[in-house]
Amino acid sequence: MTDAPLYDTELPSISDRDAKEKIDRLTDIIKLRTAFEEELFNVYVGRGSVAVCDQLQQQLEIGIEKLTNIPVVLKTNRQRPGTTFGATHPTIAKIAEVMRFVIEDEIRVDEVPGFQHLRQPEGEYREPGMLDIDEVLGSYFPEDQRIVLYVDAIKDYAGQKIKVSSDIITEVVLRHEAAHAVIHLGKDADGNIFKLHDYLRLDGREKPGRLHETLAQLFCFHSVNEDAELSDCLHVLCKYAPAPYVLWDDFRNVSLERIRDILIDIRRNRLHGDYETFARNAL
Ligand SMILES: [Zn+2]
Repeated sequence: MTDAPLYDTELPSISDRDAKEKIDRLTDIIKLRTAFEEELFNVYVGRGSVAVCDQLQQQLEIGIEKLTNIPVVLKTNRQRPGTTFGATHPTIAKIAEVMRFVIEDEIRVDEVPGFQHLRQPEGEYREPGMLDIDEVLGSYFPEDQRIVLYVDAIKDYAGQKIKVSSDIITEVVLRHEAAHAVIHLGKDADGNIFKLHDYLRLDGREKPGRLHETLAQLFCFHSVNEDAELSDCLHVLCKYAPAPYVLWDDFRNVSLERIRDILIDIRRNRLHGDYETFARNAL
């Protein structure tokens, strides 16, 4: 019998000691969190290894939904009484109105603690100290049609990184995530939405995806630009966010109509779903 490789060879490995420390820390954190009261934990274990994944699964007796390059979404089986909204949620409604799409599907919005203080590994677009919006402050899970806000992470962020109230940050993060949701589920005049398979293929393997984030940030920007507090907050978040969250600024003067038309062409497979194609058509 040959020994199974300790680490997934496609991913840079972390040392056993680092892995053990991270697992212990995660276990402590998760145990502290009132025994899986939250349905979702979004945590970072560094560049994931199969061994870490297996050990976490055994130790915590929970299912692991995915182990990609960095984020690991740990899911408990317990259903949390959720808050399900569709177009009735004022922020989702606002974004849909700005984008002139109609929301008929349900989109769930949940609040969980989050683990922003776990250091984000540096990556293709991430310099030290830079903080993603997605998976740190909030997430949109297209498969579940769900927005999650990491409320503790937002509070920590408000206290440490920037001087903006957590309520304002929460609203901007929610608008950003709602923009992802409406890009996916908003119906155009012909009643079309973004097919899940095609939505997930945008940007290929880029993470964070430049087109996903440029579109979400542009719609977020247009939804906040008449509100000084929200607009200032978006700009402060951009100061600490990696490049894919900041590229939208090149398109701030492109009409919403044009951005929307390009999005519709991408959804219909008339245009390729990558950042370069978007930029070429928008400018
Ligand atoms: Zn995003």
